[in-house]
Amino acid sequence: MEIIHLSAECYPIAKVGGLGDVVGALPKYQNKLGHVAKVVMPAYRNKFLIENEFEVVYNGWCKLGFHDYSVNILREKTNKLGFDLYLVRINNFFERELVYGYDDDTERFLAYQVAVLDWIAQWEHRPDVIHCHDHHTGLVPFMTAYCHQFEKLRHIPSILTIHNAQYQGQFGWDKLHYIPAFDLWKSGLLDWKGAINPLAAAIKCAWRITTVSPSYLEEITVSANGLEDLLAQERGKSFGILNGIDHDVWNPRTDPMLLKNYTVRGVDNGKKANKVALCELFNLDPERPLFTFIGRLVGEKGADLLPEIFHNALNQFKNQISILILGSGEPEVEERLTQLKLVFPGDYNVFLGYNEQLAHQIYAAADFLLMPSRVEPCGLNQLYALRYGTIPIVRRIGGLKDTVVDIGDGGFGICHDQASVTDVGHAIGRAFELYSNSMPVAGKQHIPVEGKQVTEIRKYIMQLDHSWDKAAQQYIDIYQM
Ligand code: ADP
Repeated sequence: MEIIHLSAECYPIAKVGGLGDVVGALPKYQNKLGHVAKVVMPAYRNKFLIENEFEVVYNGWCKLGFHDYSVNILREKTNKLGFDLYLVRINNFFERELVYGYDDDTERFLAYQVAVLDWIAQWEHRPDVIHCHDHHTGLVPFMTAYCHQFEKLRHIPSILTIHNAQYQGQFGWDKLHYIPAFDLWKSGLLDWKGAINPLAAAIKCAWRITTVSPSYLEEITVSANGLEDLLAQERGKSFGILNGIDHDVWNPRTDPMLLKNYTVRGVDNGKKANKVALCELFNLDPERPLFTFIGRLVGEKGADLLPEIFHNALNQFKNQISILILGSGEPEVEERLTQLKLVFPGDYNVFLGYNEQLAHQIYAAADFLLMPSRVEPCGLNQLYALRYGTIPIVRRIGGLKDTVVDIGDGGFGICHDQASVTDVGHAIGRAFELYSNSMPVAGKQHIPVEGKQVTEIRKYIMQLDHSWDKAAQQYIDIYQM
């Protein structure tokens, strides 16, 4: 099959979160299964564009409202990513480094979608499926089905994967003229609660819908930022497929970003070496259990709870735990997390910003990774943590519920029910007890107890199979439907 993935993000070209990881891996694994999966994304003016070689495969114009914009589509020459990569350059819109956050994001992603379809409409053959990811590509199923200029694309099946239903890309009806002409009586398909809503339009028009975990599929019919009823109505064509992780990129044995590589057998020493080096960088004590949080500092991730959670934990386990945070997001949360450094120097540190290498190093060095999410469509952090032998402490929600089993239930992680300071505090207490019962902790007498030990859990979780092989085939099965 020939599969065209359309997405705003794709690792390593441009990544803001999990969407980038998925689109950077899934096509590769689909190609390994013998299919031809390609990625077509905007050509952001970033490091990848500057440092790699491309050939121009298409020059044209794209009409957006009353203006025409020149379009070039570039193909990455070496195929080193494991799939064909096409970058859509539209001068006014993508000559900037960041993926999102500009005032004209609506126009940018609309122009990208129109330009891609103009290009595909010129091909001599038709792809077998167009796979849209999130709202930035959400108008494609509508446009292929109903816009006159894309008549030739009408019979190409479209599939939407919802990575996060919180973000929907709504804009006002005053921008309707940006969408290429269609019979206006079909406008209702674009509408949700009085605005043009690309995610809602995709949910209505895509031939199939997937979410990135089975639990999230159930949860969005109850909570999806206003789209619950629509999602419940379209449940019949919807499927939950758990994300995988790219074992080529996320492998502690070979990961070039780590300070020391390690295998399952050498996990304790390997993690310790990474912890010692990282703690030195961040002025933390490597003899204590290291707790971490990596991610966007937003309400969805429960980040607003972190300052109080860590304040309490650092008081309760005085001089007995270390905490390191990597993230960026809401300024107030950033500010409060920074202030904690003054209160607990030597016990706590935070790196504000996005740093791919540091993320890898933290997964390798940490003992525990916290995810007190309010919403978690799949969550990749816990999967990376497992692969690197780091024990996840997660709220039972969405993909976290599907991938982490509590030690008390015969599993390997620490789970809690609420995204609350009390629940997470209790979970940290359980983690501390687990650690101090099985690992030597400075200033604490080491009395090993019966039950699971940290080393045993580390070895077990590193061998769990969360690779893309299975999920890549599940997507193929859906395309075949
Ligand atoms: P999201 O909702 O943000 O997409 P996921 O758990 O699905 O959450 O994916 C998050 C991805 O982004 C992971 O690969 C994680 O390591 C990465 N990430 C998040 N924040 C940062 C950061 N500040 N620096 C480096 N990597 C980050």
